[in-house]
Amino acid sequence: MHPMIKGIVWLRNDLRISDHPAISRALRECDEVLFAYVFDDRVWNSKNGVSRISGFRARFLLESLAELQEQVRDRGGKIEFLQGRTVDQLSKLIKEYGASRCYAQREDAWEETQDEKHLAEICELILAEGKGLFENHDLPFDLNKLPGVFSSFRRKVEKNLSIRPLMEVPDSLPCTWDECHELPTLKDLGVDEVSSDERQVLSFHGGETAGHQWLKQWIWERDCLKSYKETRNGMVGSDYSSKLSPWLSTGCLSAVQVYWEIKKYEEERVANESTYWLFFELLWREFFRFVSRLNGPKLFWRSGIKEADGTRPKGDPKTLQRWKEGRTANDFVNANMIELAKSGWMSNRGRQNVASYLIHDLGQDWLAGARHFEHLLLDYDPCSNYGNWMYLAGVGNDPRPVRAFNLEKQAEYYDPDHKFRTLWLCN
Ligand SMILES: Cc1cc2nc3c(=O)[nH]c(=O)nc-3n(C[C@H](O)[C@H](O)[C@H](O)COP(=O)(O)OP(=O)(O)OC[C@H]3O[C@@H](n4cnc5c(N)ncnc54)[C@H](O)[C@@H]3O)c2cc1C
Repeated sequence: MHPMIKGIVWLRNDLRISDHPAISRALRECDEVLFAYVFDDRVWNSKNGVSRISGFRARFLLESLAELQEQVRDRGGKIEFLQGRTVDQLSKLIKEYGASRCYAQREDAWEETQDEKHLAEICELILAEGKGLFENHDLPFDLNKLPGVFSSFRRKVEKNLSIRPLMEVPDSLPCTWDECHELPTLKDLGVDEVSSDERQVLSFHGGETAGHQWLKQWIWERDCLKSYKETRNGMVGSDYSSKLSPWLSTGCLSAVQVYWEIKKYEEERVANESTYWLFFELLWREFFRFVSRLNGPKLFWRSGIKEADGTRPKGDPKTLQRWKEGRTANDFVNANMIELAKSGWMSNRGRQNVASYLIHDLGQDWLAGARHFEHLLLDYDPCSNYGNWMYLAGVGNDPRPVRAFNLEKQAEYYDPDHKFRTLWLCN
């Protein structure tokens, strides 16, 4: 008889039980597993007083964890909730539980990959994929040959595309550990409650069940996928785009699950430009993940991955504050910024415009804008957020040196009847 093998499954942005490569591998290789989630001080207890997470995302995250805890408990398992620095907390737990290894989903952004590196120095860390549609070994080029522009990336990866099949949901998650800390509340975490706004595009609820319900509803019941390409630049209501990003960012849904749902719809209902376009947008997410893997900390530098111009404007705090509060001279920008502040959401069209305005019209530092988004966005993801901001600031992957939008024209085109502006500027 071999000695009992215990493993820790370190939960990160993968808050689901289905289609989870790290869990599947841990269950194959261990006799029992304990799940662990760390509320890291860098996010929840930042020393410089700049909060990195608002009530919107914090609530969504706690809802997601509460559901996952139920799913794990139903299968005989446990989640240990810890607070502090990730690597310190996990290394303590590994010793106390007597685990011989730790399993986790591989992440792409700098801090997360640094945690992986440090944890691997302390224990056997087994990283599984699961965040994206495909991984390093699926790429038709070496990561260090990653095309600098999206269209070239897309053409290359689409050529020999093969997306992995979905993974099974585990039946049983045996665990003998019985000292689990309770899931903290918002109050325990020092985050203020936020109230909902009846104008918000959707009443987002964290967790795998809500994510799947919305995926089914938007694609099948509301039948929105068939016209997504025409509606995706909308700004009002639940249907213009998929609104899947909060569930994708927390990993309540995997990108692979979304991909196979698109395929099913194409087989059973219709395959057209719109159905392709949702996949196309998921490729942007992939692109920024690999950009982040390749460039590490540069995504968070003012000079970006171009390392072009380290002397970009630092900006003026009052101007920045007016932008954050939606008190600029531009009503289209203001309406978007108010929507963000009141709901944690902004459409892609809005994000493009307010970012362009901050950088190119107000001459402010793009990093300050990106950090504000990090704080407020319900769907914050380091690679997509900093990748898109860098792109618009001209220090990322845009082949054009300056991507400045004409705000008047954009507002006229995308909000011709002022419906969006009236909605958010009315009180
Ligand atoms: C300045 C700026 C900051 C952004 N910050 C984030 C962020 O923190 N988190 C985030 O998930 N997205 C971010 N995006 C990308 C995009 O705006 C959102 O993914 C999208 O608006 C989410 O809405 P949706 O799920 O309805 O998208 P849909 O239009 O339905 O697209 C489906 C999915 O494709 C992916 N996607 C779509 N557009 C992009 C894009 N430009 N870049 C990367 N992935 C994309 C998302 O996962 C999205 O859920 C940012 C864009 C800009 C311009």
